[in-house]
Amino acid sequence: MTDSAPLAARAIGSYAKGCLAGGEALPTDGANWQVMRLSRNRNWGHPELVQFLKDLSNDAPSLGWRGLLVGDLAQPRGGPMLSGHASHQIGLDADIWLTEMPDRRLTAKEREEISAISMLKGPLDVKDADRSVDPRKWTDSRARLIRRAASDKRVARIFVSPTIKKALCEFETGKDRSWLRTVRPWWGHHYHFHVRLTCPKDSSGCKNQNPPPPGDGCGKELTYWLSDEPWVPKKPEDPNKKPKVVKKRPMALSALPKSCKTVLAAQ
Ligand SMILES: [Zn+2]
Repeated sequence: MTDSAPLAARAIGSYAKGCLAGGEALPTDGANWQVMRLSRNRNWGHPELVQFLKDLSNDAPSLGWRGLLVGDLAQPRGGPMLSGHASHQIGLDADIWLTEMPDRRLTAKEREEISAISMLKGPLDVKDADRSVDPRKWTDSRARLIRRAASDKRVARIFVSPTIKKALCEFETGKDRSWLRTVRPWWGHHYHFHVRLTCPKDSSGCKNQNPPPPGDGCGKELTYWLSDEPWVPKKPEDPNKKPKVVKKRPMALSALPKSCKTVLAAQ
């Protein structure tokens, strides 16, 4: 499917099991954004996500960030992808690079080939690692951009590396720390941050997640994420052990909500 389903806009199902009707493409270029990896055709979202990205990009320069490099949103009709993400299925998730948009238009080839830059100081999976962002890469402008995104009423959650969550907890010195609740530590997410919107009003059959636990999330949970526990394997691996081969199979269409059949068939 290279085009969206010509139906009323609707996010159907849950973030990791669903599809998208009436998807809208985020244009590949705007004054303050550029879409990356055009060949993937994953710049589709619910119109509310597209609007959110336009609004965020508009505010970016005032935050000291020239503009957004936008990674994957969803496929034209959402649904499971063969590579890359479990979620991003209902047009409400978007990856935004932690690399600033350059002051020129990238060519289509550059948009395929340029790599995002990791914010990590070093590897996370070694004992007693310093699980921090690299101060030569991380900047307050990045923190301001994520704060702006997390303060938006349309946003349910933002996923970042625990190292970034820590940097944000330290960055916010003002009284209002409520936005930090929306920013959740997760695996990966040190090249980009992942924005997830709440279900739009028009989307019956769209399932919100439970809201994050109360509080700024800068305490116990973060301490755990920054410890060896989640990262360092307990026992040294037996070098003679056969590696487990886990074949990732695409999710069967029958696993998706029933209305997704209509979405896939719509012409
Ligand atoms: Zn993502």
